[in-house]
Amino acid sequence: MARFDPQYTETLPATADLVIIGGGIIGVATAYFAARAGLNPVVLEKQAMPGTLTTPKATGAFRAQFDNPDEMALVLEGIDFYANFANRTGMDGYDLGIHQQGYLWLARSDKSVARQRELVAEQRSWGLADVELLDGDEARRRFSYLSGDVLGARYREGDGWLDVRRLMMGYVRASQAPIVLRTEVTGIQVMGGRVSGIMTSRGNIATERVVIAAGPFSAEVGRLAGIDLPITCVRRQRLILPEAAGVPRDAPMTIDEETGAHWRPWLAGAHLMWTTPTEPATSPQEDVPTNLAFAYGLLDPASDHAVAHVSPFWRDVWLSNTSHWLLVAGQYSYTPDHRPLLGASPIDGLYLNCGYSGHGIMGSAGGSRLTVDVITGAVASAQNPFRPDRQFADRALDVL
Ligand SMILES: Cc1cc2nc3c(=O)[nH]c(=O)nc-3n(C[C@H](O)[C@H](O)[C@H](O)COP(=O)(O)OP(=O)(O)OC[C@H]3O[C@@H](n4cnc5c(N)ncnc54)[C@H](O)[C@@H]3O)c2cc1C
Repeated sequence: MARFDPQYTETLPATADLVIIGGGIIGVATAYFAARAGLNPVVLEKQAMPGTLTTPKATGAFRAQFDNPDEMALVLEGIDFYANFANRTGMDGYDLGIHQQGYLWLARSDKSVARQRELVAEQRSWGLADVELLDGDEARRRFSYLSGDVLGARYREGDGWLDVRRLMMGYVRASQAPIVLRTEVTGIQVMGGRVSGIMTSRGNIATERVVIAAGPFSAEVGRLAGIDLPITCVRRQRLILPEAAGVPRDAPMTIDEETGAHWRPWLAGAHLMWTTPTEPATSPQEDVPTNLAFAYGLLDPASDHAVAHVSPFWRDVWLSNTSHWLLVAGQYSYTPDHRPLLGASPIDGLYLNCGYSGHGIMGSAGGSRLTVDVITGAVASAQNPFRPDRQFADRALDVL
């Protein structure tokens, strides 16, 4: 098959050292870290190109400001890796389009101000020394577009975003792994409690090591091996305005703590997001529908979660009604504690790298490195806070 990229193929190997199911960002990141560890991975992707399902729906943002030290460490490992991507991968000059313009979380109530103070103290105790706590006036002095309603803020300049496609294709190229396209995994063969092979729409592969990295379809793929993964799929949308007057180019990711509505600059406009709290869980989907109410809810100043509440220039964007906008939708893969499932499954040789909710881009490096370390035995299960057989703690829904 003629392809511009020699790594893409539609021919299955008869055997493989390691098979990765899914060619989204997590599958190709796994391939990169596996190759770096001396394994010979092959990625199987059912679509005609890698990275066409959930991965391109992401805004590419990353942040160290978490409510627990494990996810904070996982993402900090990634931020360091992305900042040094060209060096680490040996791809001179490869640019991920990183913008470290910060994450700015804005409190409009006394309760949120108090919660911000507690959280920043915790984050500092976990070693995040560069997160700042600002009062409303200081926040407005630093970020002149903020509303008079803002009473306090927490801010970390080292947070930001990157170009998702560049990161994904960087992993593809740096891994040098074959990516077998238009190939759907239809069965996982297990003999005596061990993986022995994979069945696909193109035939079978004999292998003793398999990683499930199938994004929202991971639970479905797990069932092929007879295991039940605690993953539910929930639609999340992103509103894109390529041009919108008044969006400061140097603004950070700007988040309303009261509602979770957030935006960040992009081109001459912005990406805008919100986690709809009432969105129901559904089955995994190839085509996730968008709905207009999502856009109106963010843009119409009369909405309870309008972005204009913390950044009033959005009122003018709405009133001028001159911006083109479009919507995209994908699914978050939620586990009961909203943290990913990384490492060994109950079946020998079958590993998991899935369940990232809204953090699969930022978590791709740390999570895939850890999964590969479990495969090679470099990390023992007891040292892995994301092991799939952990006790799941109750946790409030993260707004991002
Ligand atoms: C609106 C939105 C905004 C987001 N913003 C961010 C953000 O700013 N930062 C961040 O870190 N994360 C963000 N995320 C989350 C992030 O997009 C995901 O966590 C990440 O893309 C998951 O990658 P993945 O490779 O696991 O899944 P996917 O990209 O869905 O890839 C899974 C792949 O597996 C393939 N597959 C499935 N079943 C099979 C099978 N049987 N055989 C072969 N192939 C199969 C699929 O075709 C697909 O290509 C966002 C998500 C959404 C929806």
